[in-house]
Amino acid sequence: MKRFTVLGALLVIGGLSAAMMAQQQPPRPPLPDLTKVKDNLYVITSSTLGPEFTGGNTGVLVTESGVVVVDTKLSGYGPTIIERIKKVTDKPVTMIINTHTHGDHTGSNEGFPATVDIIAQENTKANMVKMDAFKGDKAQFLPKRTFKDKMSVGSGKNRVDLYYFGAGHTNGDAWVVYPSLRVLQTGDMFAWRDAPTIDRNNGGSAVEYPKTLSMAIAGIKDIDTVIPGHSPVTTPKDLQEYQRFVTDWVAAVQSAAAAGKSVDEAAAAYTKHPDKYQGYAAPQAARVKANVQVYYDELKKGGATN
Ligand SMILES: [Zn+2]
Repeated sequence: MKRFTVLGALLVIGGLSAAMMAQQQPPRPPLPDLTKVKDNLYVITSSTLGPEFTGGNTGVLVTESGVVVVDTKLSGYGPTIIERIKKVTDKPVTMIINTHTHGDHTGSNEGFPATVDIIAQENTKANMVKMDAFKGDKAQFLPKRTFKDKMSVGSGKNRVDLYYFGAGHTNGDAWVVYPSLRVLQTGDMFAWRDAPTIDRNNGGSAVEYPKTLSMAIAGIKDIDTVIPGHSPVTTPKDLQEYQRFVTDWVAAVQSAAAAGKSVDEAAAAYTKHPDKYQGYAAPQAARVKANVQVYYDELKKGGATN
């Protein structure tokens, strides 16, 4: 009898602790230190997708009036990002720029003081408003200022130019330029050397993606360094190659559609990237199919077909 009671108590305790553990956030993988990109600009790099995933690359610009943080990774990293920044400057973080709505780029906005200025493209703010992560009290960590096509903040080596060139990954992807440093931070419009992720629920567009990349390349001049959304710092040459890659990718889907193939058939037929794109990750069937689906959905809605 007594034994049963003890067993029952253990079961209750076991059940409780399992429930409590389920409520706690799983521990996040650690962040690296800041890596200097140039002069007063640093990056906190991101890990690749998988259990070590921390979110997107975070740009850190140290200006005389404070620190500008571009993208805040997954939720829970605010204190760590601040601690890492303290290793290179005493200046407080005064501004956050979110390149787009996704939680791996906006998740730790809430980890900074509510007084921090937050800027994003206007469609991104509209997308963020819809996220559970920014409901109720958390609404204070939504962008306070937005822009439509272009906005500049700061001057000289503290200057940041923000551009919007159209839909692609979402419908609010900001291109962040540090003009005096000749550095461009692309967000997920150029996340990695792999097929893009196109988030149609947030206005992303397969049809527009190659054009938007072309517009950005034509419109952003005097750059020699590129910080992608999720992969190591690189050069404009890789961004230009990515534009050609996405153009070819969309053309392949377009001709499959023109040949009357179904989404499944078109996706199944795309088993490898063209040989000229060296160093690109092998196509993942799930992402290929999702992207083909996006393209077909756009066609059905009477989107541009040229
Ligand atoms: Zn994203």
